[in-house]
Amino acid sequence: MSHAIGIDLGTTNTVVAAVVDGVAVTLEDEHQRRLLPSVVSFHPSGTVLVGEAARERRLIDPENTIFSIKPLIGRTFDSDEVKAARARFPFLLTEGSKNSTMVLARDVAYALPEISAFVLRRAKAIAEQALGGTVDRAVITVPANFNDLQRASTKIAGKLAGLDVLRILNEPTAAALAYGQSIAKAEKIAVYDLGGGTFDITLLDLSGNVFEVLATAGDTALGGDDIDRLLAEHLAREVMKKFNFDPTSNPVAFARLRFIAEEVKKELSSRTSVDREISGIGYTEGGVPIQMTMTITRDALDKIALPLIERTITVSRQSVEIIGLDPKDFDRVILVGGSTRMPLAATHVGKFFGQTPHLKVNPDEVVALGAAIQAHALNRSKAGSKRKSAHDQLAKAQGGGASGDNVPSSPPTANPNPANVDVPRAPGVPAGMTPEAPSPGFFQFEKAQAVITFSPPPAPPHGAGAKPPPLPQRAGQSGAPSRTSRPIEGTPAREHSVALPGPKPARRSAAPQEAVPDLELGAALDGRSGANLGAIVASTFEQPAPTAQAFARGSAIETAENAPLLIDVTPLSLRVETVGGYCDVLISANSPVPCEKARTFLTASDNQTVVFIRVAQGESSRFAENTYLGELELSGLKPAERGSVKILVTFELDADGILNVRAMDKETNRETNATMRLLGTSTDAAALSEMAARQARHVVA
Ligand code: ADP
Ligand code: MG
Repeated sequence: MSHAIGIDLGTTNTVVAAVVDGVAVTLEDEHQRRLLPSVVSFHPSGTVLVGEAARERRLIDPENTIFSIKPLIGRTFDSDEVKAARARFPFLLTEGSKNSTMVLARDVAYALPEISAFVLRRAKAIAEQALGGTVDRAVITVPANFNDLQRASTKIAGKLAGLDVLRILNEPTAAALAYGQSIAKAEKIAVYDLGGGTFDITLLDLSGNVFEVLATAGDTALGGDDIDRLLAEHLAREVMKKFNFDPTSNPVAFARLRFIAEEVKKELSSRTSVDREISGIGYTEGGVPIQMTMTITRDALDKIALPLIERTITVSRQSVEIIGLDPKDFDRVILVGGSTRMPLAATHVGKFFGQTPHLKVNPDEVVALGAAIQAHALNRSKAGSKRKSAHDQLAKAQGGGASGDNVPSSPPTANPNPANVDVPRAPGVPAGMTPEAPSPGFFQFEKAQAVITFSPPPAPPHGAGAKPPPLPQRAGQSGAPSRTSRPIEGTPAREHSVALPGPKPARRSAAPQEAVPDLELGAALDGRSGANLGAIVASTFEQPAPTAQAFARGSAIETAENAPLLIDVTPLSLRVETVGGYCDVLISANSPVPCEKARTFLTASDNQTVVFIRVAQGESSRFAENTYLGELELSGLKPAERGSVKILVTFELDADGILNVRAMDKETNRETNATMRLLGTSTDAAALSEMAARQARHVVA
């Protein structure tokens, strides 16, 4: 059996881990480094540099050195995120087919999954060297709030890198999994993740081997990079005072100051004061190189970082409140992400939750370790038995049919009153009281039928002259913590247990998930202990936060005998466009995955022979305010009076949180064989083989 690894594909850093002899360990490269910067630099030689070597080239070859693209993966070129990034990045972003986002390096355009693929290829190579064998399977983690396109794009990246992606796993779930190995009783835990560019808070319920996400929230534009920028601006003001030279006016000088600021910031996590020489940023009016030594105290840094840390606490408070809990209800708080090494972060998190955060595992590595544990379990499962589709598993769990024949033939009713559906649901209102409440059972057919909005002639597909729907407002653009309300809006996951394929206890034992076998202790690898594996005892924390506790060693975790059964939820509702610019929820936010739901729709006009099932993800009842995912075309309908042709639309959300949509003409039982056109990413065979060909052109080092 070949090895399966866990990969934390971070915005800033990527970490690789594997289970070796029953112990999950992070893997090192030949320089004993466990953090692989997620930076890709296209060298003039044709070699693609990844990691530290690429990071160093950011200063000398900024146009061809790509970094921080993870938040843009699966985002359309005209999205707010990409627009903001274009203004910020020193490299060029261009538009590809289907409004996808490409990055230009040395005159070649690459799709974003290709950039991630280069990082993953390097990660794979590191793992193969460390483990001494082929690695072709992986679990890759993503933020819990990643949408369908972002997950699908990450999976494509894995494939391009030559990896069979066993599972796309949520980062906080992976972190909880790593910690959960030592948890015997039921616990509620909070995972506070402050990385380089993003902040996420996820609240989970761990019960036995079950990991259930209760809520997830965050801010996509808040992280350690912002602290670096603020500190660099502070340093720039000091330089200005002394030399009357403004480093912020010169991008190269400011880039250098940011580099210095990050180093100082990191040092201040373990010391209270740092003396740092500032040089290489320019010349005085008299032409003398600027050089000065500055003393930066932790107090000064804390003052600068405090507003950002306070924002994370506000988001945390909102997410706890929205599920009707108190901060004190959490048994454990786990810190994830390099920025949580700042004592200021740990202190504020501790204060808010009323407890000292759990610091047993290196916050940089815990996500990868959890992914490795899951990869190991899934790999064994795959080796042992043929993998079954989520669909089959669900059908089996329900003891029955997964065919559309089960559709109750309730009389057609009108589309829900737009005046009503536009009212946002108040936080905390049980799902059962809303029009979106699913009914129990395998297929959750909703009572009301809706009418599909399009009429012949069909609107031209997006990109062929049609105006794309406006994209939803995103966090970070307005400065308001807007994203916080999105993934967690009003829906305690508990309430959603009615949407599960079967009663809760049954779900927990007779899992609608892929069967995860027991982990076999001590049998993972034969006789290879050591080489390039992350040390079992912690050499990692050279800089324990003096606030205390110290991260007790170890990027190694003994795996439990019973592999956990992960239950993840989908962060955002999945919707179909209906009449008048509104939409209907087929799968609501916080529904456990995998799941499948179907609903019958009716034609909107007489003699309509074609329908477009337009799909979006988000929490607004106005279609255009959600993230548009794509559309599915079903043609050849029998010409008839409006409302008399029935179309069964089925959403199947797999364990990776990736959506498959089917549409069936109920008259003929003919299912559409067209695949959904996903915007923002090219998934057709031709595009994929072009990407693969471009990968083959480069050696990765
Ligand atoms: P991501 O999940 O975004 O890939 P990481 O979890 O690797 O990010 O965190 C990277 C961030 O952590 C960077 O902003 C980095 O400066 C910060 N960081 C790393 N080590 C420390 C430290 N000792 N003190 C403070 N910040 C740190
Ligand atoms: Mg991370």
